[in-house]
Amino acid sequence: MNLKDKRVVVIGTGIGGSGIAALLAKEGADVLVLERNPYPGGKAATFEREGFRYDTGVHWLARGEQGPLGVIRRAVGGGLRFKALEPAMCVGVGGRKTLLKQDMVSRAELGRVFDELGVHSENRAGAFAFFEDVMRPRTEQQLAELDDLPLSDYLARFTGDPQFFLFVAGFIGMYLVVSPKHASTAEFLICFAGEARARNLCYPIGGMDAIAKDYLDALKRMGGEVRFDTKAARVVVEGGKAAGVETAAGEIIPADLVISNSGLKESIELAGRRHFPAGYLETADKLRLSLGAVSVKYALDAEVVSPHLTYYFPTPDLLDTQTGIFCPVPSAADPALAPPGCQMVLAGAPAPAGLDDPDKADRISQAILDKIENTMRHLFPDIERHVVWKLRTNTRYTAGISGRFSGEVIGAAQSCFQVGRNRPANRTPIENYYLVGSDAGGRGVGTEMAAQSALNLWRQLKG
Ligand SMILES: Cc1cc2nc3c(=O)[nH]c(=O)nc-3n(C[C@H](O)[C@H](O)[C@H](O)COP(=O)(O)OP(=O)(O)OC[C@H]3O[C@@H](n4cnc5c(N)ncnc54)[C@H](O)[C@@H]3O)c2cc1C
Repeated sequence: MNLKDKRVVVIGTGIGGSGIAALLAKEGADVLVLERNPYPGGKAATFEREGFRYDTGVHWLARGEQGPLGVIRRAVGGGLRFKALEPAMCVGVGGRKTLLKQDMVSRAELGRVFDELGVHSENRAGAFAFFEDVMRPRTEQQLAELDDLPLSDYLARFTGDPQFFLFVAGFIGMYLVVSPKHASTAEFLICFAGEARARNLCYPIGGMDAIAKDYLDALKRMGGEVRFDTKAARVVVEGGKAAGVETAAGEIIPADLVISNSGLKESIELAGRRHFPAGYLETADKLRLSLGAVSVKYALDAEVVSPHLTYYFPTPDLLDTQTGIFCPVPSAADPALAPPGCQMVLAGAPAPAGLDDPDKADRISQAILDKIENTMRHLFPDIERHVVWKLRTNTRYTAGISGRFSGEVIGAAQSCFQVGRNRPANRTPIENYYLVGSDAGGRGVGTEMAAQSALNLWRQLKG
């Protein structure tokens, strides 16, 4: 398609929406982005409070410059930079701890990690074989054959070692945020092998919102426009084709192409269910979403938390009071995110995403948040003495920020039967109406999947 001077309206400034907006402006399209919030980034936004900058989510990135986030940056001439730190992370499993390097798969490194985590000696061969198989080069076809194999079944082919299972479950939680019995093996392989090959587990300089801001700055340099505080209320459909967007203020904006970053289910409602075939609606209604997450943001007056990234699983006897956590320290990658000598620390844990009964969801969130705080005190006994402020966020908060019906971390879950060929496509049944973001078309870890979705759509549209 010749995109020159095509009028494009993008709904949303998540990573997918910002990315596609800049990529299409590069092709000469006339791009307008509408964002309901007064700030960009969606789930990957960043706020400021008393000299600290904190993210809405709890993020660390799998490949940074070497993955699709970097591909978009280079394509649109952005200045986004990422910082990788060594060791890659601290893993605490069942009362034991190890430091994982960016080199996650050499035999010597893995042997040390298995020793420190207490993988039983008779299970070592299976554990090594698992990583060898994960790293084996695979064609698209070979990956597609593993799309619908539950990861727990794949793992069971190698070893049933409980420490090893918890270790791998941590990665599944970090990448896919679904249970091992639902997670797609192919998606896990793509995420883990991608990260291990790149050796660049990292964080964006400036905070997570630096990604969307970088793409939107590129868009503006190329003549595009972004309107904040502007909610899209309806996608105008005429004669089976998208013809524009009506804002909540009642303004009708005509468009040749409408691209929604608002999630599949929400995008269907924006255009009106009556415009979609029954089969499409049935599939969308049945889509399983990834889990949600709750988080505690800690602004600290000293450097209390080390190393810069921890994931931790308590022993079963501690589960009444503790929870597994993912705990990045963004200010370790970018000291400007906290005042000198201080630390910005995030701690998150999975929680049910659904908000059908918001009061019940809030009660569950509160209980998990209490466990996160107990866990942080257990791991970093000094932490409470150094708190400048603390912020607890729940799944309602995530839903509010991303404009979605529920508070899932990623979007449509990367579970069996809804990845690869079964992933919702960028193209919708309504002509000139497209989806972009973690729900549509991509593969990989959350932010990277949103960026990959934008790259895929860009390639489809420019032909
Ligand atoms: C707690 C948490 C932890 C995470 N951890 C990681 C991690 O460690 N690594 C990783 O890679 N990923 C992680 N993710 C996932 C990642 O943040 C998301 O997958 C990704 O940011 C989603 O991008 P998106 O393009 O799909 O859009 P979203 O972020 O969902 O943004 C959608 C945008 O559209 C706007 N919008 C919606 N409806 C309308 C409307 N009607 N009108 C105008 N605007 C609208 C919203 O306001 C929002 O700005 C995490 C997410 C969360 C919540």
